[in-house]
Amino acid sequence: MNIPKTDLPRVVIIGGGFGGISLVKKLLKQKVQTVLIDKHNYHTFQPLLYQVSTSGLEPDSIAYPLRKIIRSSTRGFFRMAEVSSIDPEKQMIYSNIGELHYDYLVIATGSKTNFFGNDSIEEHGMWMKSVPHALNIRSLILENLEQAVISDDPKERKALLNFVIAGAGPTGVELSGAISELKNHIVPKDYPDLDPSEMEIHLIEGMDRVLPPMSEKSSRKAAKFLEELGVKLHLNTQVKSYDGREVLTNTSLKLNTYTFIWSAGVTGAPVMGLNASALIEKANRYEVNRFSQVNGYDNIFAIGDIAVMESEEYPKGHPMVAQPAIQQGKHLAKNIINLLNNKKLEAFEYFDKGTMATVGRNRAVVDLGKFNFGGFFAWFVWMFVHLWFLIGFRNRLVTFFNWVYNYVNFDKAARLIIRPFKENQKQSKSDKAL
Ligand SMILES: Cc1cc2nc3c(=O)[nH]c(=O)nc-3n(C[C@H](O)[C@H](O)[C@H](O)COP(=O)(O)OP(=O)(O)OC[C@H]3O[C@@H](n4cnc5c(N)ncnc54)[C@H](O)[C@@H]3O)c2cc1C
Repeated sequence: MNIPKTDLPRVVIIGGGFGGISLVKKLLKQKVQTVLIDKHNYHTFQPLLYQVSTSGLEPDSIAYPLRKIIRSSTRGFFRMAEVSSIDPEKQMIYSNIGELHYDYLVIATGSKTNFFGNDSIEEHGMWMKSVPHALNIRSLILENLEQAVISDDPKERKALLNFVIAGAGPTGVELSGAISELKNHIVPKDYPDLDPSEMEIHLIEGMDRVLPPMSEKSSRKAAKFLEELGVKLHLNTQVKSYDGREVLTNTSLKLNTYTFIWSAGVTGAPVMGLNASALIEKANRYEVNRFSQVNGYDNIFAIGDIAVMESEEYPKGHPMVAQPAIQQGKHLAKNIINLLNNKKLEAFEYFDKGTMATVGRNRAVVDLGKFNFGGFFAWFVWMFVHLWFLIGFRNRLVTFFNWVYNYVNFDKAARLIIRPFKENQKQSKSDKAL
């Protein structure tokens, strides 16, 4: 991997997501050699991926070069590589660009889409975990609209203009809201030869309410907002299969669609090589103690989505969202320094800063401890928080400018088919693994 030899302890971090970068930023100031490894050369701000897939933001406004984070220190290194396995006995990691010895290893590889073993959904559906995924969805939506314009077969047009999303968590709700905005504000202007009422957005949820992790009040409000936008909600309904044309469910609901987006679950993205006892098999995530040490190892840590840290308040671990990853990354930096200085390790405490989701223009819901609110103010809070947490001043500025422009003009400026999805389906399908 061409990392210089050093007398300093070497900390290797796999994953430049929320957890990885919050740890790296703190470690760069310390007397350790820090090596950050990620399969992408950028950090992805996943909460805004849905805006890329619905033409609201350009992809580079939610991605940030990882080398730009590392360059502030001569003791920090970045390598773009996919780590395939770990040998804890030899303290080595193995990747597609070579191997590396570590003194301390931090696994911050996040999560991946969970299809619950449903091959038809994995083969034919779309999902969204990375920028290439979001761009595939953007192209597919726009290509389907273009095709609908020239189709005189009503059945074909129906399949082209039905947009079906499975899973009404924050991602499903935000996507449905944003596609409705396309229908309500863009389609009537850009596609005068299409009847917007033919375009339908269906949101399917297995449970009895949308946004199951949020309060019932926020859930009710979000459902109302979605209905106001024209989204057709199907609660207590589970998708059984999708063959590329028809979605079948466990009820009498069947939908013809060429756009089926799966946002109904995630599972951990672990790396091979640790003892079976390190992994909670059902969740595919590492079991860690309150110091983020992986079960059975003193010098291997896991943070963020990939880690399950049980506590009295969180008996099943923390929610798989950005804040636990950020807070665990910062906390682990302190504990690694404590370890090096033979000091006692400090147990991690999670501070819940609240949960929120936006439902199209002017509408959002926010849960803040026992308080919850929805509507315009919540939407304003949602925008402020997302701008605040976006990495990089340029990204904040560009996103802010885009949002103001889109708001004033009822527009979505990035509706471009740069790399057609349908034409290059084979190529694009392999991107799904990214
Ligand atoms: C569409 C979407 C919307 C979301 N919306 C919200 C939201 O609104 N609010 C919220 O709080 N959370 C949201 N989340 C969840 C949030 O993004 C995650 O909880 C958070 O990213 C977890 O951080 P992490 O550091 O554990 O992992 P990630 O941020 O996922 O980072 C993992 C990194 O590891 C890299 N990696 C993985 N495997 C390897 C390997 N083998 N070798 C090298 N590199 C590897 C990946 O490329 C990635 O950069 C959303 C997630 C998605 C997908």
